[in-house]
Amino acid sequence: MESGSLAIGIGVAVAIGVAAAMVGSRAGRRRALVAERRAAEATEELARREATSREAGAVQDLILDSMQEGILLFGADRRSAFVNDALEHHLGARPGSMDELLPVDLREMVRGVVESSVPASIEVERGAPSRWLRVAATPAGDGAALVVVTDITESRRIEAVRRDFVTNASHELKTPVASIQATAETLRGAIEDGSGAAPRFAVQLEHEALRLSRIMSDLLDLSRLESGSEDGEPVGFDTLVRDEVERFQEQAHAAGVFLSVAATDPAAVRGSARDLSLLVRNLVDNAIRYTQEGGTVLVRVAGDADGVTLTVRDSGAGIPSRDLPRVFERFYRVDRARSRETGGTGLGLAIVRHVAENHGGSASVVSEFGIGSTFTVRLPSTGSRAFDA
Ligand code: ADP
Repeated sequence: MESGSLAIGIGVAVAIGVAAAMVGSRAGRRRALVAERRAAEATEELARREATSREAGAVQDLILDSMQEGILLFGADRRSAFVNDALEHHLGARPGSMDELLPVDLREMVRGVVESSVPASIEVERGAPSRWLRVAATPAGDGAALVVVTDITESRRIEAVRRDFVTNASHELKTPVASIQATAETLRGAIEDGSGAAPRFAVQLEHEALRLSRIMSDLLDLSRLESGSEDGEPVGFDTLVRDEVERFQEQAHAAGVFLSVAATDPAAVRGSARDLSLLVRNLVDNAIRYTQEGGTVLVRVAGDADGVTLTVRDSGAGIPSRDLPRVFERFYRVDRARSRETGGTGLGLAIVRHVAENHGGSASVVSEFGIGSTFTVRLPSTGSRAFDA
C-alpha cells in the first residue's frame, strides 16, 4: 500500500470506530475496538515506511556526497536538479542552470549532448593551481542530462613522467650506442691499416660498453624498485654498511679520498639486504666521485628509538641550492659532463630514494656548493609499510 492510501485507510478506520462507538451497542463497541486497533497498526506502518524512506534518502545523499566524481543532473528545463559536493569542488561553483556552466567549451559540450541525444566527453583545465578534469555528459531523456566530472590531474602527471622517462632513457642509451658504433668502425680501420692504434680503440670500446651496461643495470634496478622491494628479512644494517664501505676502500684510495665508517652500534632494520646494499653503494660511490683528491668521506650509522639514520658526508664539490630539490629525480645531473666522465648514469639518487621509501623511510640532502654534501637516509628500525602490506 502507498503511504497516501495507507493514511486514507487510517482515516476511514478511525471514522468507523467513532461512528460505532456513537451507536453504543455491544457489537458496535467490538467493531470500534477492532477499528481502533487497525488504525493504530496502520499508523505504526506509516511511521515505519517514512523512516525507511528517510534512511534510504540519507544513504543515497551520503554515497553521492562522498564520491570523488562530481555529479550534476540537469532537468528537462536545463536547471540543476541535483549537484553533489565533489561537483562544487571540481567546478568551483554549483551551477544553477546549464547556462552557468564554465568553461565555455564544457557548456557547449553539454548543450550538444542534450540537442543530439548522443553522449560525449571533454578534458578541460580549471582554476589556479591548475587542475585537469574529464567531463562526461549522457542524455537522460526529455532534454535532461547527467554530467560526471573526474579529476585526472594526477593521472596526466604520471603519464607525463612516464613519457619523459622513456624519452630520457632512449636518449641516454643512444649516446653510448652511437659511440660504440663509431669506435668499432675506427677499430676496424686501425686493424686494416695496421697502424698500431687498435689497442687504444679496443679499450675505448670496452669503456663505452661498460657505460651502456651500467645504464641498463640501473634502469632495471629502478624499474624493479618501482614495484616495491622484494623480501622483508631482518637486516643488520651496521654490518651491511661496514661491508659495503670496505668494498670502496680501493676506489677511494685510487681517487686520493680518505674514506671512513662509524657504525659500531647494532642497527636492526627489516627489509631487503640486496636493495639496502644498493642504496649504500650509490651514496658512497657518489661521495667518492664528487670529492676531489685530498678530500674526505665519512659514513655513519646511528640508531635511536624510532629508527636508524645513515649519513654520508663528503668534503666534495657540493650542490648549488637551486639544484638541491631536483637531484633525486631520474636523470637529473648538476654537471652532466662531470657525471659522465666519472661513470655516472644519473639514476643513482633516484634508486636511493626508491629503496628508502620502499622501506618506509626517506632520503634527503643538505649541501653547500664548493664545501661538501651530507646525504641522510632514515629507516624505521622494525617493519615498514611496504613490507607489512
Ligand atoms: P650520477 O650518476 O650523475 O651521479 P645521481 O642520481 O647519483 O647521478 O646523482 C644526481 C646528481 O646529483 C649528480 O649528477 C650530481 O650532480 C649530484 N650529486 C650526487 N651526489 C653528489 C655528491 N656527493 N656531491 C655533489 N654532487 C652530487
